Amino acid sequence: MPLHTGPGTPEERPRSMNPFYGEANPVVEMTEAPPRHRLPAGPMLPTTAYQLVHDELMLDGNSRLNLATFVTTWMEPQAGVLMNECRDKNMIDKDEYPRTAELERRCVAMLAHLWNAPHPEAAVGCSTTGSSEACMLAGMALKRRWARRNADRYPSGNVRPNLVMGVNVQVCWEKFCNFWEVEARQVPMEGDRFHIDPQAAADLCDENTIGVVGILGSTFDGSYEPIAELCAALDALQERTGLDVPVHVDGASGAMIAPFLDEDLVWDFRLPRVASINTSGHKYGLVYPGVGWALWRDEEALPEELVFRVNYLGGDMPTFALNFSRPGAQVAAQYYTFLRLGREGYRAVQQTTRNVARGLAERVESLGDFRLLTRGDELPVFAFTTAPDVEAYDVFDVSRRLREYGWLVPAYTFPANRQDLSVLRIVCRNGFSTDLADLFLEDLTRLLPELRRQPHPLTRDKEAATSFHH
Ligand SMILES: *Cc1c(COP(=O)(O)O)cnc(C)c1O
Repeated sequence: MPLHTGPGTPEERPRSMNPFYGEANPVVEMTEAPPRHRLPAGPMLPTTAYQLVHDELMLDGNSRLNLATFVTTWMEPQAGVLMNECRDKNMIDKDEYPRTAELERRCVAMLAHLWNAPHPEAAVGCSTTGSSEACMLAGMALKRRWARRNADRYPSGNVRPNLVMGVNVQVCWEKFCNFWEVEARQVPMEGDRFHIDPQAAADLCDENTIGVVGILGSTFDGSYEPIAELCAALDALQERTGLDVPVHVDGASGAMIAPFLDEDLVWDFRLPRVASINTSGHKYGLVYPGVGWALWRDEEALPEELVFRVNYLGGDMPTFALNFSRPGAQVAAQYYTFLRLGREGYRAVQQTTRNVARGLAERVESLGDFRLLTRGDELPVFAFTTAPDVEAYDVFDVSRRLREYGWLVPAYTFPANRQDLSVLRIVCRNGFSTDLADLFLEDLTRLLPELRRQPHPLTRDKEAATSFHH
């Protein structure tokens, strides 16, 4: 499908409108609905325009029933008020909105502490539109550092930089490699290992490797990749060969879970090899969509020539971003949430979510028809497949039938070398309560007798059956 083309069909039929929307005079003000794919010839009343857009959006899904997305779908009313107050603020206008700029700096400082930067005051970082932009920035920094070290052979020589990762990376890393012309070297899945293998990753490294990406945690099954073991394998590689390969941790979800629930897990700047970390403020950072964070251990990890400067209170302020203008409301909301919850508050929220995930995973398992791949004890996310003796239906049937009850649960096939395995995945978020989990399980239980009576799996269009979200 091409990107956002018009309908390409003959001129639309005139459609009629609800006469009530013609405000003062329902008879004459609106005899015909406005066109949908070209700019209407003239204006209409704001109330009418509002009602039209509002009505159409009613058909969007109910985000609270969406068990596919990692992104925050509920915040407190106070956060909503604050975001409304900030909706005119442009993140890039540091001079005009110095307080918003200051809140961004405080958030970076708080994250540097949270992620155990050895010298938090030396860590550098920025807000972004999400983890995707943060990963682009981190990848660019890795590539530029490598290019600097190899200035004698790149770009003049016939060499191509590469980035090593598990095959389970989120699509943003494939984008990075495509957009920035870096070879993606992917460690495949094997057997019951559904994410990176430290030794296999180290074996893929050579003198053109700009870095290795470790994921905390994987979108495919919610598991944490073994970051410390990955660093150890790269330490051994350095001892053997002299190659010093930095690690970036894609903590889109886990960088806001592990610091609160898995304090003993060493995955962050405590590992000297970890050069940078990203997270999505709008996932387990608990903010509405539109904010991510990228942090580097120190200034050395972020080549200075990538940083631009904008005007700030008569001086200048460094910025690193792909966008120029960008809303400030999400950054204010992130600061609000940090302030509102503190460490203990975050721990309580994330622990509750993990409890819901673990409880639901156990109960799905006890239905007998399913085999769990993960149990919700790392990210509050679990993946499961049908038990070996289930032949009447498959995961795509389950996903399609759950939609009848409004639940969005994606089903998808794993990548190399486990293309034989298809799974369902449930992402628990704050707002998916024990009550909702009970209702979900009731609906799933009610479906099972019908599914078991199928002659064979019935979903032909697997893509349409599921809502695929990585
Ligand atoms: C969600 C996710 C991303 C992309 O993050 P956005 O904030 O949606 O841009 C990247 N990596 C991982 C591991 C993710 O889970």
